[in-house]
Amino acid sequence: MGNAEELMPGYTGVKFVSIQLNEDLPKGFAALFPLFKACADFVAEHDMVPQNAGNFSMRFADGIAITAAGANLDMLEEKDIIYIAHCSVSEMKLKFIGTRNPSSESLLHYLILQCRPDANAVVHVHNIPASDIPVGKIRETEKEEPYGSLKLAQITCDTLGTSDEPILMKHHGYVAVGSSLMEAAKRIISTHLELLNKPKKEIIRDAKTL
Ligand SMILES: [Zn+2]
Repeated sequence: MGNAEELMPGYTGVKFVSIQLNEDLPKGFAALFPLFKACADFVAEHDMVPQNAGNFSMRFADGIAITAAGANLDMLEEKDIIYIAHCSVSEMKLKFIGTRNPSSESLLHYLILQCRPDANAVVHVHNIPASDIPVGKIRETEKEEPYGSLKLAQITCDTLGTSDEPILMKHHGYVAVGSSLMEAAKRIISTHLELLNKPKKEIIRDAKTL
């Protein structure tokens, strides 16, 4: 197994193995940071990333760029974006480049981007007291699955289908895809405000277009 280590072993839902290839991020990778930062700032303004919750990913080269496990999206730093060079969903194993471990929801992100060749980015955020969301107003995964698990990744892909509308992972949080991180984030915030009956314009106004 070499230097394989399990991600965040305290998290019962995380069962995949992540192997660090090296710390030298690919050429051009640094240019992604502003995109992640703008997205993080936007969702943080809407209180969507409490207590290190939430994770984002986007396609890069032959793999995906993703936020690190435990990254504080409220104060995102460059080292918080790492590169998953390869992922075998069936083997529950991934190989990454960077100084930090990839998000505990890496399988979720990888599988969604596999299921949705039309999408370039995936955003997952929290902050939905279940009681706030009117039942039946948004598509939701049929049942709750442990976070970080393949089951959660699969049921989320199934629920998303081919739609661009955000969905809820039951008792957990929102997921949306987009052509960019910001587009996915805007879809979530816009839907969230609609569900809470708040004026949409107010929320979207300060989002930078990227
Ligand atoms: Zn989550």
